[in-house]
Amino acid sequence: MKPIKIPLALILGVVISILSGLCLLGAAETTVYVTNSGSKYHLETCTSLSRSKIAVSLEDALASGYQACSICKPPVPDQSGLTKTRAQQTLYQVHKLNLTASSQGEISRMVPAEVIAHVDGDTIRVRIPNPPPDLKAVETIRMLGVDTPETVHPHKPVERFGKEASDFTKKRLWGAQVYLAFDWDLRDRYGRLLAYVYTADGRCFNATLIQEGYGHAYISYTFQFIEEFKGLEQAARTGKQGLWGDR
Ligand SMILES: [Zn+2]
Repeated sequence: MKPIKIPLALILGVVISILSGLCLLGAAETTVYVTNSGSKYHLETCTSLSRSKIAVSLEDALASGYQACSICKPPVPDQSGLTKTRAQQTLYQVHKLNLTASSQGEISRMVPAEVIAHVDGDTIRVRIPNPPPDLKAVETIRMLGVDTPETVHPHKPVERFGKEASDFTKKRLWGAQVYLAFDWDLRDRYGRLLAYVYTADGRCFNATLIQEGYGHAYISYTFQFIEEFKGLEQAARTGKQGLWGDR
């Protein structure tokens, strides 16, 4: 019987594609740590990590331009084997673009949506036509980096200025066309989308809420525009805007 000859190049090709497939899997599952101000990514145990560390996938760290730390030597995958996830291809994520101010957002690159209901000052419901992967056709959005006084909590009374904040969002956004930008985490633990909501004039409504004194900068979790939003809150307090006004 004649032996079947398989070209060496074909065998090599198959082996290489299996190996690069494995690399991809590994990269998608590896978690590394970054900080807001640093340019390196680290292992969780690294001594040079500050307390404000943020867990991200290795793939995200690389896509955002972070370099491997030379002290803790985190994993470095073969760059050529990395491909973008579908979500990264379609969602406009401000931290990946290193935007330093919310005014730099480009609504033409964001996900368009229509506000179909208003829940609270900082929470809305939207319909997303042709939703990209990872998004649903109807989503509840918790606006990133801002917290307005509570009006709909089942066990808490309506907080001071809660109704005003809620009415402001309703008046400005209900029925409006908006554009969604994202940051580090796509969702909170309740499954709500975490987004910056831009209006057609290119303004970030999250920032507007703080600027006009309808909410404060929500800094329990870090986000790309944290310094800007803190500054807006300070200015609103000084100017006695909205909730910071005299009683
Ligand atoms: Zn390190």
